[in-house]
Amino acid sequence: MKAAVLHEVNTPLRVEDVEIDGPGPREVLIRTGASGVCHSDLHFVEGKYSISMPVVLGHEAAGTVESVGEQVSYVKPGDRVITCLSVFCGHCDRCLSGRPVLCTRADVVRSPTEKPRLRQGDTPVTQMAQLASFAELMLVHEHATVKVRDDVPFEQLALIGCGVTTGLGAVLNTARVEPGSTVAVIGCGGVGLNAVQGAVLAGALRIIAIDAVETKLTIAQEFGATDVVDASGGDVVEKVRNLTDGGVDYSFEAIGTKETAEQAFDMLRAGGTATIIGMIPQGTKIELDGPSFLREKRIQGSSMGSNRFRIDMPRYIEFYLQGRLKLDELVTQRMKLEQVNEAFEDMKQGYVARTVITFD
Ligand SMILES: [Zn+2]
Ligand SMILES: [Zn+2]
Repeated sequence: MKAAVLHEVNTPLRVEDVEIDGPGPREVLIRTGASGVCHSDLHFVEGKYSISMPVVLGHEAAGTVESVGEQVSYVKPGDRVITCLSVFCGHCDRCLSGRPVLCTRADVVRSPTEKPRLRQGDTPVTQMAQLASFAELMLVHEHATVKVRDDVPFEQLALIGCGVTTGLGAVLNTARVEPGSTVAVIGCGGVGLNAVQGAVLAGALRIIAIDAVETKLTIAQEFGATDVVDASGGDVVEKVRNLTDGGVDYSFEAIGTKETAEQAFDMLRAGGTATIIGMIPQGTKIELDGPSFLREKRIQGSSMGSNRFRIDMPRYIEFYLQGRLKLDELVTQRMKLEQVNEAFEDMKQGYVARTVITFD
């Protein structure tokens, strides 16, 4: 099969032949329908996070089940699925205490002594997030899939696989925003826009969208932001405090830098909670104002929207079909696998909410 392979940090991905194994007892082979290009993919290209190479990136996808292992009963060939990197074992203490997103993932991967799922000749090829969706086929553990209805296009489904779930879930699952509260979202790319529409679903009274790119602020308003703050024009924290009663109840950081994480905390009112969604580069330290903790300000991480994706994702599809969740507007352009490097270039320019790679 064809896949986009990263061989070295800061080099273009190369579309090459990669051999894919057949499904093991609990694995599912999926024909990829669409794959979003997410900022976390770019982090690995740029070496901000390390991964063993060669690697097939891509982790925001949907497709059709091609074949299944002998012990798989959850899906069958022909089923439409969304994949999720939050593959869960179902029996560790994290899974059993209702937080499968934090699963230790001990036995949902192939061990180094087993045949790799992907290879080029004798060289094993890493699957990003155990998915590797920049490829015509994906071989994944059955617990990395959720079966969905088959009347929604792959592009929209793919986005639910990461960006939508990450943004919505941070608001609905991690922070549990209450109706009537005030919310600020820093960074209005694919994930931030979904935090904005998560806040709409949660019934937030004020939703302040913050970004340095004006077009993104306009889009954020279309997604339900009640106020916007242009981050290119000076003190963001001060502006948010002035727009609210001295700060917001909930802030969401969807960029992944030290500066914006600190801003997220500083813009809270007493008792507020900052949720960090962005992937802050390895080695970064965050500095917070100590006395703020006496005012019960909190800061927390959110991984993949604290999802229970087999419950959450089908619900998000229903919200979409009811017109309460925007997905079509998130797909800013479609590309072929061969254009994946162009998609990264557009992302670096900062003007694209989502490029979706389609396969046919
Ligand atoms: Zn992602
Ligand atoms: Zn587990």
